[in-house]
Formats: sequence, structure tokens, C-alpha cells
Amino acid sequence: MASFQFAGGSPAVSQLQSPPSSESRSSISFRHAGNWQGPPGTMDMLDMAHEQLRAVCERLDMPQNTFNMLSHIERAFVVNFPVRLDDGRIEIFEGFRVLHNSNRGPGKGGIRFSPDLNLREVCALAMWMTWKCAVVDIPYGGAKGGVRCDPRHMSMGEIERLTRRYTFEISPVIGQDTDIPAPDMNTNEQIMAWMMDTYSMGRGRTVHGVVTGKPIVLGGSQGRRQATARGCLFVVLRAMQKLGMKPEGARVAVQGFGNVGLHAALIAAQEYGMKVVAVSDVDTALYNPDGLDVAAAAGHAAREKTLRGFAGGQTITNAELLELECDVLIPAAVANQLTQLNAGRIRARIIAEAANGPTTPDADRIFSERGIVVLPDILANAGGVTVSYFEWVQDLQSYFWTEEIVNSNLRKIMEAAFDRVWEGSRKDKCDLRTAALMTGIRTIGNSAELRGLYP
Ligand code: NAD
Repeated sequence: MASFQFAGGSPAVSQLQSPPSSESRSSISFRHAGNWQGPPGTMDMLDMAHEQLRAVCERLDMPQNTFNMLSHIERAFVVNFPVRLDDGRIEIFEGFRVLHNSNRGPGKGGIRFSPDLNLREVCALAMWMTWKCAVVDIPYGGAKGGVRCDPRHMSMGEIERLTRRYTFEISPVIGQDTDIPAPDMNTNEQIMAWMMDTYSMGRGRTVHGVVTGKPIVLGGSQGRRQATARGCLFVVLRAMQKLGMKPEGARVAVQGFGNVGLHAALIAAQEYGMKVVAVSDVDTALYNPDGLDVAAAAGHAAREKTLRGFAGGQTITNAELLELECDVLIPAAVANQLTQLNAGRIRARIIAEAANGPTTPDADRIFSERGIVVLPDILANAGGVTVSYFEWVQDLQSYFWTEEIVNSNLRKIMEAAFDRVWEGSRKDKCDLRTAALMTGIRTIGNSAELRGLYP
């Protein structure tokens, strides 16, 4: 088996470096974070992505040159821009747009607004998008972007001005043929509408296809809002079938009650008769062993902007939610939730990673030993990018599909991807994450070799 050394580096991302570490890896762009300051057991996301890539390339016996290409990002665009706040002050915000790999098509990936966002995190997320698009076999490369800001403490006007100025700043590198943003944490259809409008103003015409996840009246797709959750449930059902489990009455715990978590809980309860025993948001977690009224919780969250105060369940912590006895645990919030510190106490049969990067490699090893089936993020949450792809196709053709067609095409793609990954894990005797990464990375490696090197 080949052993890989990280080599070379991209000056464009040299500023993302923490102080030089003593690691033997020499890559500038992927040098170990070294000074990772996160809570115990957690891991720098780029180190996580990096570690996965190296392990899989070694298993695949990937040529060193191909590995070198895949281990670097193609482009990192960093912008600092001013926004006028409601009180008249001008604050400078830092924003990012990263394209990891464009071998198979334009970049695709969400925009995240978050108070601790940094370039390393965006690079990791962009890399995962590359593998994800290849796992579901849609013709995109991987990208990601975002702004370091705390939208919970900003007015709508401030968020709109920030969104528009950020879009203007990154407009040299986005476009419907080059790199197509979408919603992610703390961004939504309204923000996509502002992005589309701002970009279109600069072009002198409406460019629907520059972002996906837009409102339906502005060229959005039926079913996009629920797509990540629906795709996740499609693969959960397939996994349950393989494991001889029944959806009806299965106990589900969902961490995160935003776009993905809320719809996952609703679809699980309303369409598949599952018992949603726990949900949470950043403020609180709620538990009811008899099953929560998810629609009522959603109504409360819409009115109050928080789950706190919802009377239909007992208040627990997010940490306790993760350790509940259940059939399916759906982390649908942030990274680094399942670590070596709690993996031994997780009592779910299936973990479906609706969030990106919720499980550290150490926790993965523990789950594998304990026989807990992890449906990895690059498979389990790929429904969002898949329906974003449908939206883009509809925009380019100016011809729109019904929700039934969207959902049935989504189901076909998710089930085919699950089956490929499941078969891969059986054939290569590995867990589903390794099999999914092998599927994605092999596809990108092959396309890189076929395209060859320019000039
Ligand atoms: P969102 O902003 O709509 O919702 C995030 C939810 O997580 C909120 O309920 C928030 O309160 C909660 N949360 C935030 N920090 C938390 C913490 N520390 N502990 C517990 N809960 C916390 O975001 P979203 O679009 O639903 O995305 C959720 C996850 O799914 C992210 O990891 C995102 O990258 C991933 N994802 C989203 C999409 C999509 O289509 N939106 C697609 C693929 C993957």
C-alpha cells in the first residue's frame, strides 16, 4: 500500500495557516492545524478531511500525482468588506469562497454564516462537496463559502446589506457555469434571492442559475427546502431494510432544528410513522419517550425563534440527546458532535449524518467496533445538492418540474448512491464512510487522470 506525503502548496491559502507545526507533512495548504483550540476530543475539520483523503488514497493505491492534486484546493477567495450597521457604525466582515476541485463541472456548495467560520473549515467543507457530488454522480465539483458573522445578533436589514456586499465581492468567481452557491447554516431562500438579485444587477439581466435554494417564484425548485432531509430519510429507510428494521415506530432523535433537522423530524414522523423522541436547537433539547408533536414544536420554533419554552417534552441537554437510546440518531447541526469522548455511550443503531462532519475519525473507529452503522455525511446529506442540481437544470432550461418528479428523481439518485456505497463496503470490507469516500475519490481521481494536465 502506498504511503502519501503532502507536497507543495497554494500561496492563495497560505494565510489560513496556523503557526508552522512540527508535522512531517509539507503542504502549505493542508498543514496540520497544530494549535487546534476546540473542546477536548474534537478535531480541526480540515485535518479530518485531510486524514480521510490520505487513508482512502492509500487504500486505493492512488498515484502520488493524483493524490497531490486532490489534496489541494484549486482556489480560495478571501474578501474583507464593510457593512453599515443599523446604529451607523461600519463593521468589516471576512468572507470566503473556496473551490476545491472542478474536474467534473462547476463548483457547487453552500454559503454559511457563522460567528467562528474560518478558511480551514470552508476548505474542508469544499473538499467534502467534491466527494459528495461524485458519490451521487452529479456533474459538479466541490465548493463552499460563507461569512464570519453572527446573524442571530443582526437585523434583517444588516443581513441583507451583508449578503449583497458579500455577493458583489465574490461575483468574480461565482456564476452559473463556474461556481454555484446554495444555502447552508444560517442562510435560507431569502438570502439566496438577495444573492441572485445582486449578481443579476451586475450582469444587467436575471441570472437564475447563479445560486440554488431560491424561492420557487424566483426559479427555485419544488422540494428543495425539504431535499436534504428527504434524501437523508431515503438512505435511512434503505439502511433499515438492509438491517431488518421497520420504520414504523422506530425511535428517532434529531440534533438541530433548522432547515435540515426540522424537515427530517417532520418527514420521519408524518410520512414514515417514526417516533421522534427528541429534537434540539442551539438553545435547548427536548425529550418525550412517547414521541414529540413535531409539527407543534415547529410552530413554536417559528413563532419564538427557539425551541426553548416548548411544553411538549422534558428539557435535556444537546449532549444528553446524543446519548439517548434510539434506533436512528440524526445529527443535523454542527461538526464535531460525536467524538472519542461520547462514542462509547451512543446507543443508536443507525447514525445518519445530516450535518457535515459531525463524527470524528476516532469516534468512527469506536462505532465500527461497536457495530453502529454510520451513514456518512457525503451520502446522507447529499439530497440537498442533488435537488440543487435539479433546480439548476430547470433554471437553465426555464422548464420546471412537479414536486412528484423532483422527489421521485431524488429517490432514484439517493437509493442508487446508497446501493453503490453499501456494495462497496461489503466488497472492500470497510465501513460505509470509507466506502463512500472510496467511491467519490476514485471517481474524481479517474476524471483527473482522463482530463490530463493543461498545458
Ligand atoms: P440551519 O441554520 O437552518 O439550522 C441549524 C440548526 O442547528 C439550528 O436549529 C441551530 O439552532 C442548531 N445548532 C446550531 N449550533 C448548534 C449546536 N452547537 N448544538 C446544537 N444545535 C445547534 O442549518 P441547516 O441548513 O439545517 O444545516 C444543518 C447542517 O446540515 C449543517 O451541518 C449543514 O452543513 C448541513 N447541510 C445542510 C444542507 C442544506 O441544504 N441546508 C445540505 C447539506 C448539509
